[in-house]
Amino acid sequence: MINLETEVLSKIRNIGFAAHIDAGKTTTTERVLFYSGKLHRMGEVDDGTATTDFLQQERERGITINSAVISCEWKGHLINIIDTPGHVDFTIEVERSLRVLDGLVLIFCAVGGVQPQSETVWRQAERYGIPIIAYVNKMDRVGASYFKVVKKIREKFGVQSIVLQIPIGEESNFQGIVDLITEKAFVYVDELGMEYKEIPVPEELKSIVRDYREFLIEKVVENDDRLLARFLEDKPITPEDLRLAIRRTVLSRKLIPVLCGSSLHNKGVQFLLDAIVEYLPSPLDRGGVEGVDAEKVLQKRNPSPIEPFCGVAFKIKIDSFLGKLVFVRIYSGTIKSGKRIYNSVADKKEKINKILQVFADRHIEIPQLKAGELGALVGLKFTKTGDTLCSEENPIVLKGMEIPQPVISASVEPKSIKELDKLLDALKNIAEEDPTFKFKIDEDTGEIVIFGMGELHLEIIVDRLIREFKVEPRVGKPQVSFKETIIEKVEAEAEFLRQIGGRPHYAKAKLILNPLPPVGRVEFKSALPGSLKFPQQLLEAVREGFMSSLEVGPLAGYPVIDVEGVLIDVVYNPLEASSVAFKAATSLAVMDALSKSKVLLKEPVMKVEVIVGEEYVGEVMGDLNIRRAHIESIEVLSGQAKAITALVPLSEMFGYATDLRSCTQGRGIYTMEFHHYELVPQGVADKILGRI
Ligand code: GDP
Repeated sequence: MINLETEVLSKIRNIGFAAHIDAGKTTTTERVLFYSGKLHRMGEVDDGTATTDFLQQERERGITINSAVISCEWKGHLINIIDTPGHVDFTIEVERSLRVLDGLVLIFCAVGGVQPQSETVWRQAERYGIPIIAYVNKMDRVGASYFKVVKKIREKFGVQSIVLQIPIGEESNFQGIVDLITEKAFVYVDELGMEYKEIPVPEELKSIVRDYREFLIEKVVENDDRLLARFLEDKPITPEDLRLAIRRTVLSRKLIPVLCGSSLHNKGVQFLLDAIVEYLPSPLDRGGVEGVDAEKVLQKRNPSPIEPFCGVAFKIKIDSFLGKLVFVRIYSGTIKSGKRIYNSVADKKEKINKILQVFADRHIEIPQLKAGELGALVGLKFTKTGDTLCSEENPIVLKGMEIPQPVISASVEPKSIKELDKLLDALKNIAEEDPTFKFKIDEDTGEIVIFGMGELHLEIIVDRLIREFKVEPRVGKPQVSFKETIIEKVEAEAEFLRQIGGRPHYAKAKLILNPLPPVGRVEFKSALPGSLKFPQQLLEAVREGFMSSLEVGPLAGYPVIDVEGVLIDVVYNPLEASSVAFKAATSLAVMDALSKSKVLLKEPVMKVEVIVGEEYVGEVMGDLNIRRAHIESIEVLSGQAKAITALVPLSEMFGYATDLRSCTQGRGIYTMEFHHYELVPQGVADKILGRI
């Protein structure tokens, strides 16, 4: 079916750039905006004017924290770029972007190669089935090695990478590329990279171009039946045939095309834009989305503006002028300003007051948004990150996103009683925008504790409190968010009977608590026989009682994780049963069981990568060992650098930035991200719990 709508949809690309920190994501985004004509002046990351980094502290820190959706046009296509942050403290931002993207450009540093965050993003992209193009940036740097990165992509990701370009010149002599599809060579002629000219393929590259082109065709033919057919029939393969076949193999995630460039020096970005249009999917290619309706029956929505509306809220931003902005990706249907929609997760009706198309530094009001498009809605009150929005008549809940649990906490205290309300309001706003940030007020002491994904995450939250919300709380030392867990199966049983509101409330519940594999989860299920006809509402009360009693563990008050609760028996008398009674009976039972069983402490373990010169490896390793590190690998990078990858408990990583700086004379860099929760060794646990 070729009609206007499909024609329009086929020209949309919803994409993101993802990279290990410092690989050049922000610079590349800047250049993309420049060449596509939306920016009149190039913003440089280094002088803090990059368009996507619009929060003040992002400018100062030179990192992009909040995803911003930026639209631009390239060769008749609308490209919506969802910016993703490079720092792992903000992986949720990457996750929420991936949830709504159709295609991804993974940027690698030609020197650093495949770094841990590229691996993380790769795994996330895999989970969402997102097609990828690889872009090897920083080809101008000393030690740049394009083919080494290509090899690493293949090794680390276990997927075939196909080189589409051969660089002309290396390091400071990097001048342009040979396009393997057309076998044409291009070199840049001006500093801004606006112009490039075609030259004959340099003599010294001819054999390498031939070899890689043969390999390219071989790989594509292997993975694409249509091209194989042409090949077997001995028909000539035109550049167009090859491009279409590559497109099919990228969309089916069989191959990853690799391009190269130097974004900082304005080389290669136009070819990257061509490749985005050429090989990454349109909303049509990504096809329909699936979800469940109110009866939990599987439903599908196709990417068409005339289907019932459904979309996902992938980011909330509180704007000081516009109020709450809900960024949505529309999968099907059309929404209009002034109309009502339904949040099927929160079970709330919402009204759209305005629809905005957002650029990095400005927005325009538009009357409607259609399938395949992205925009920001003003007027929604209840919607949170990850919620499904849909038409009221055709409710559907789409697959949500995985939101990691915070691993670090700190107490915050307002400077004066007057500031308390302001502080709480600010924390509420931030928690609304950022699902990985949480705060809680201790009922007994009144202490306010904030929770986040790492030291930097909390620092940035505190920065925002000061700058945006003008409150300056006293902040305690960051603490690790420990957890508690059981290691043996226990049974729990309790009874509850009380007169409330002039009638007896009675419940008795029996549960089994099973230890789960260490995945940081709590699960609950009922094993009651159906013949018991235990009402759904009371089962919910049991679930709530189970969940809430695990929030404060018996050992030191940390949440209990990796446990499954199975409801095996109840005494249920319809006249005296109530939700209150079942919730209370379950809580009593669980608390009693936990107090009797062996409960152990768990701590977050981080995956840490340190890059240092060879001369410092010994010292860095020694220091890591003192921190209870489990060294996973030591890899030789180009030049004299080595990358040490280790698993280290978070509690040992406080102040690491300073220590690393001093033991490497400022030459070492490191990144870390949450890996898993692990049992704390007895001696260490005793210390943490104040037993010794
Ligand atoms: P991000 O953290 O991935 O967003 O990376 P940025 O775009 O902020 O770049 C990190 C640093 O690398 C900045 O100092 C950039 O100027 C620099 N950079 C970016 N692209 C290139 C490049 O192609 N060549 C060189 N030599 N440096 C680059």
